[in-house]
Amino acid sequence: MTMNCLDDLAKRVRFELDCVAYPAREWVAPRSRDGEAVLDVLIVGGGQNALSLAFRLLRERVTNIRVLDRSPAGEAGPWITYARMQTLRTPKHVSGPELGLPSLSIRAWYEAKFGAEAWAGIGKIPRQHWHDYLRWLQAMAGIDVTNDAAVTDIEPLADDLFAVHSVIAGKPERLLARHVVLATGIEGAGQWQVPAMIADALPRERYAHTSEPIDFAALNGQRVAVIGAGASAFDNAAMALEGGARAVDLFARRKSLPKVNPNRYIETTGYIRHFADLDDTLKWRFMRRYFALNQPPPQDTFERCARFDAFDLHLGSPLESVSFDDRSVRLGTPGGVFDYDFLIVGTGFVIDLSLRPELARFADKIARWSDRHQPPEGDESPTLGAYPYLSGAFQFTEKEPGTAPFLARLYCHSFGAMMSLGATAGISQLKFSTERIAFGITRQLFRDDAEAFIAGLDQYDEVELDISAFEARRAARAAKVA
Ligand SMILES: Cc1cc2nc3c(=O)[nH]c(=O)nc-3n(C[C@H](O)[C@H](O)[C@H](O)COP(=O)(O)OP(=O)(O)OC[C@H]3O[C@@H](n4cnc5c(N)ncnc54)[C@H](O)[C@@H]3O)c2cc1C
Repeated sequence: MTMNCLDDLAKRVRFELDCVAYPAREWVAPRSRDGEAVLDVLIVGGGQNALSLAFRLLRERVTNIRVLDRSPAGEAGPWITYARMQTLRTPKHVSGPELGLPSLSIRAWYEAKFGAEAWAGIGKIPRQHWHDYLRWLQAMAGIDVTNDAAVTDIEPLADDLFAVHSVIAGKPERLLARHVVLATGIEGAGQWQVPAMIADALPRERYAHTSEPIDFAALNGQRVAVIGAGASAFDNAAMALEGGARAVDLFARRKSLPKVNPNRYIETTGYIRHFADLDDTLKWRFMRRYFALNQPPPQDTFERCARFDAFDLHLGSPLESVSFDDRSVRLGTPGGVFDYDFLIVGTGFVIDLSLRPELARFADKIARWSDRHQPPEGDESPTLGAYPYLSGAFQFTEKEPGTAPFLARLYCHSFGAMMSLGATAGISQLKFSTERIAFGITRQLFRDDAEAFIAGLDQYDEVELDISAFEARRAARAAKVA
């Protein structure tokens, strides 16, 4: 029954794709360099940002693309590895990767697989189902992802090309590409962050960041501390509690949890599409407020922890000291000193381009907000200043004009785009961000080939009008008269 519904939906998808395929003709001239084929676009990462962009490029008939992801096949993104919530945090009506095609939406997939009643009955989308949906969409859109393929180094070459150095299935490979998009995850413009006071004080087996694998079964009967007050901190606390931890204490710096979610406020076409069109002063003012607000954990995530007597919440509790005494992790806070067996670090990520190995050759040449914008006194923020200063098409820009022109062919499709384009890492921005990036890429591809395009008009010989039959009849008539 389910199979039939999914089969029917697959037919519908093909029909809808066919209906909107125009203009369907390939238009980008293939390139090579010393006999080596050149990709038009190489996308680093195979998560939802990469898939949505690849889908858009394919629909715009930019087909000479490649998507590389370092994770094993079918595991791209956080959904079945370190994401530990039961459902997405976003309301179920979110759309994005389907790029406006109803038959490719999460709802269409969900209803085909589980029935319309099931869809009506869920409040939010189960995490595993979101993952399965993305895999289905990838297949329907015909996107090839090469897994076990880590990009290690991006080398700008002459001729407006990049050599992208990767390790694919254990073997070093060099690929040539005209455009490179970094869709390397929410932390893709920096890295997950463990405060030095923790990393310096504790043995590695006594703590883990929320983005790492954690053996929750091994925490059965243990005392666990979690630091951070974001949704992931609560998800991990819940996993430890459900794994049978004896006590789980969550420590947060702030004195109260935020109750209002600014992410819901910004989910409008006006904001998502046009934040990029504001001037720098307005962008800075908005982001100062947005970042100060923070998001609360979802209600159900909070309840998932709160229902356990073993759970406690310590607000207004910044870590003042961290030590290890051969048995316990000891945390000092303004509220006292506490001992634990294990610490889960939910302190998110930092934006710092110098930490990205792929960018090591030229990270210092990339403009950050601190290079471009001087906020008024009292409004400074090193956090905001560290974000890359991107173009309206998500391209990196040069710190010093003329020193790294290749940056115009390198795109930042991650949370690093938040300051310049208001693009969160989330699902809701996908249809708008991919529109801008695809626009930037197709514009440049077309401009690069403008001469060939003009010359092509003279060679274009697809016959539309055939008057030979008429001419033959006329000749026959003339012959008769003669
Ligand atoms: C725990 C968690 C929960 C979230 N929940 C929600 C939610 O409910 N709703 C919402 O809208 N958003 C949510 N988000 C935010 C956002 O939707 C996700 O982070 C989403 O996965 C972003 O998609 P992405 O494609 O940018 O990154 P990812 O899905 O993380 O994909 C990035 C990929 O890049 C690959 N990669 C990285 N570096 C390299 C390299 N050098 N070479 C090759 N491959 C590389 C990785 O293997 C990874 O598969 C959540 C984020 C997290 C972390």
